[in-house]
Amino acid sequence: MITSRNPATGEVLQNIPSTELNEVPEIFKKARHAQMLWASQPLRRRAQVLLQIRETLIDRAEDVVDQLVKENGKPRQEALMNEIIPIADMLGYFAKRGPKILRDHRIPLTLMKHRMSYLNYWPLGVVAVISPWNYPFMLPFGEILMALIAGNAVVFKPSEVTPLVGLKIQEICNEAGLPPGVLQTVIGDGALGVEIIKNRPAKIFFTGSVATGKKVMAAASEHLIPVNLELGGKDAMIVLPDADLDFATSAALWGGFSNAGQVCASTERILVHERIAEPFLREFKNKAETLRMAPSIEGKNDLGPVTFEKQKQVYDRHLSEAKSKNATFVTGGEFTSDRRFLKPTIVTGSEIETLAVYNEETFGPVVAVTTFKTIAEAVQKANESPYGLLASVITRNIRMGEEVAKQLAVGTVTINEVVYTAGLGETPWGGVKDSGIGRSHSDVGLYEFVNTRHIHRPRSQLSVFKSFWWFPYTDLQYKTFRLFLELYRRNWLDKLKALPHFLTTFIQFIKGDPRI
Ligand code: NAD
Repeated sequence: MITSRNPATGEVLQNIPSTELNEVPEIFKKARHAQMLWASQPLRRRAQVLLQIRETLIDRAEDVVDQLVKENGKPRQEALMNEIIPIADMLGYFAKRGPKILRDHRIPLTLMKHRMSYLNYWPLGVVAVISPWNYPFMLPFGEILMALIAGNAVVFKPSEVTPLVGLKIQEICNEAGLPPGVLQTVIGDGALGVEIIKNRPAKIFFTGSVATGKKVMAAASEHLIPVNLELGGKDAMIVLPDADLDFATSAALWGGFSNAGQVCASTERILVHERIAEPFLREFKNKAETLRMAPSIEGKNDLGPVTFEKQKQVYDRHLSEAKSKNATFVTGGEFTSDRRFLKPTIVTGSEIETLAVYNEETFGPVVAVTTFKTIAEAVQKANESPYGLLASVITRNIRMGEEVAKQLAVGTVTINEVVYTAGLGETPWGGVKDSGIGRSHSDVGLYEFVNTRHIHRPRSQLSVFKSFWWFPYTDLQYKTFRLFLELYRRNWLDKLKALPHFLTTFIQFIKGDPRI
């Protein structure tokens, strides 16, 4: 049994029967059968189903918002804006673009003009989507809809912290007419995740922590199952000296504290130019102290509770170390008396860069601030992290922002924006280093859901003849290839030097010399 709770109150929302481990093989069997039928539908038909899912989602939006607010704790506005709208947008985007992205792609051949090549995409089969609790609707649904348009079936395991939100995805897809078995949601914890992998999905789309990501990859390697890993982050915001302070502090505020900081792409580190550090911190603190913390169910709040009880241990460790090392708490640093909410926290000080709160993922409403003197120093500090998911640059000079962006070792850089591009269907999402492997969304992300088949054929019926390099090997063949090789030379005269030698052999061949 999995118990779903309201993180703002601790109240039990529902006890949900978990999927038995021995049920998993049957689930995969059903999925494999459903996948064959689903993949045999034309792409346009699958696109129609996606559009129908969008209609149902819009009809059921308030229901989904309620569930997100109750089970995850996020403010109603964030539930709508960051979880539902991106999916409505992606369903439409992939319904329209999917068939274009997945149609055959011609490859121009330089040498073999008598033949042609193209890429043909085909579904992977049954894929696994394993998800976290922080964006329990948008993250898995984005992957599920890409899997579906590409013709795959999905076995989906939502986080054990937010199973009811996961089941909403299933309900919406069923109601929209997705054929049975194409999407199956299973309920359970890590042990169920392990079981899913044992059943050899064609690919694993995992979003979660680095520690679990490594376990998933190790287990997947047993069966050579490919993995897509969307893992953690310690994202840096670089505030250049020309930045508008009101703009920069508002960006930092939303970057650091939306979803109560429980975002892989949260602004967890701010690198601000030393000349403006003082006024920046003053204004950032003032704004942070205006944020309204309250249970989202009552509405009118900016920050909800901490969703996952165990995450509080990370906050405790990071904050107590910072306190013991005399870091400066600009604001926050403590829980509310019921320990359900952590106050928006800004921490700085001369030793900040040595502390866990600056180096490790906190995954909460905690922002560590340091300074820099030169752009080179800012880039070096931003890149000195095991993570590489997202970074942002705040400046009035967009050219300069781009120059900095191109030096940052991350999957995404936002200039004068923060966090949000994981919700865009058109642009790729994913990280480098410990932040993961592979990309989601966009053309690049959709190709993660298909096998690529290269088809190489004669250009026309007229060009069907035996290839020159087939058996038996002859002297003429060798001389011809030698000439070929010479033709790669840069200089035209040099290219032609091999010609007489070739011609001699060719004439012998024409004369029917038996040695040729
Ligand atoms: P987690 O790694 O604890 O769990 C993620 C999922 O993996 C859950 O469904 C869990 O049940 C399952 N799981 C646990 N052990 C497993 C195993 N051995 N095999 C297979 N599955 C297993 O992560 P979490 O606490 O749910 O989420 C927080 C983390 O997710 C943070 O580190 C955050 O940065 C990351 N995250 C990354 C992105 C991204 O796009 N890069 C997005 C959201 C969250």
